[in-house]
Amino acid sequence: MNVNQNFLNLKDSYLFSAIAKKVKDHLAKNPDKQIIRLGIGDVTLPLVPAVINAMQQAVAEMGNAGTFRGYGEEQGYAFLRQAICGYYAKKNVKLNDDEVFVSDGAKSDLGNILDIFSLDNSVLIPDPVYPVYADTNIMAGRKIIYINGNAENNFLPLPDKNIKADIIYLCSPNNPTGSAYNKEQLKLWVDYALENNSVIFFDSAYEIFVQDKTLPTSIYQIDGAERCAIEFCSLSKTAGFTGTRCGYTVVPHKLGALNKLWLRRQTTKFNGVPYIVQRGAEAVFSDEGFAQIKTNISYYLENAKVIAETLKKMGIWFVGGENSPYIWLKCPNEMKSWDFFDLLLEKAGVVGTPGAGFGTNGEGFFRVTAFNSKENVVEAMERFSKIR
Ligand code: PLP
Repeated sequence: MNVNQNFLNLKDSYLFSAIAKKVKDHLAKNPDKQIIRLGIGDVTLPLVPAVINAMQQAVAEMGNAGTFRGYGEEQGYAFLRQAICGYYAKKNVKLNDDEVFVSDGAKSDLGNILDIFSLDNSVLIPDPVYPVYADTNIMAGRKIIYINGNAENNFLPLPDKNIKADIIYLCSPNNPTGSAYNKEQLKLWVDYALENNSVIFFDSAYEIFVQDKTLPTSIYQIDGAERCAIEFCSLSKTAGFTGTRCGYTVVPHKLGALNKLWLRRQTTKFNGVPYIVQRGAEAVFSDEGFAQIKTNISYYLENAKVIAETLKKMGIWFVGGENSPYIWLKCPNEMKSWDFFDLLLEKAGVVGTPGAGFGTNGEGFFRVTAFNSKENVVEAMERFSKIR
């Protein structure tokens, strides 16, 4: 046998293990220090009551011969796909329920979707961005072209007519930078994709955080996107499903063969999300569930505001935070990302994520997340503002 040599081209994903090691070493030397973690992008609030009730009811159904369910509909139960279509209808996006595919999360779909695309497709990936886009293409051996996010473009790169690519990744609101494209900017990407016969993979995992009503929360709010874009979404950050696992991907019929190919791929290699989880996911889109998750989102956004206000007072450049749980700041005094990480840990006992871990252009920047308790965020920012 021979291994897939492409895997040898992957860089070690040492970011979070390196952070964990530094924190562990620091705590060994300073055992009494109260560390506040604003680093990893995982939610901290529990599932909302509407979701728990729906899942408990589904558990009871599974224990009763009359209501027990075995293998489910491969694309996801119709009740959930219809609830998702209802959610899109409120965004003025009309979808058929056979354009929606339920999965165990956006990460799986973002990786698996590549199965239906030719290996000789080139891909365009913003730098910095969620590392999964590049790694899944490196594993497959595709050619990657990077496009620069930087302070000049507020980390929202726009299409360059001189660069052609078959597959374009966009993430808005963005991980790690928290910045979000407006409709005019997204329209430029849609027009570019249509002109070049490219497909856009639009990652909207953080759409629920968008507060500014003028900003798009789905790429299908842009004319023409249904002819060039696949949208990936997740209940992980929307409803605290990081451990429960449920997401969905939209592949419009107007994309031609792609809908049928994705259906074929999923029905061959995937046997669906647990019934209990899909009932919990359905409850997210009920009036009661939605009001409850919105309360959690507001909680995180309040934390983001505390962080943003501290940075403004300190005169530190940043993006994100208003429509995102992430804040992306420029390290003070031209420091490098990891040097700033060390300083923040040493002097304030606060852990964030070095921007360099998200791409070359992330060097000199730093990601802070709003996923923690308000008390901890306030305390972290007080400590941060006192660093001299
Ligand atoms: N897309 C982005 C931009 C993310 O930041 C994440 C998780 O952090 C995901 C997708 C993965 O989401 P899921 O938990 O649904 O796999």
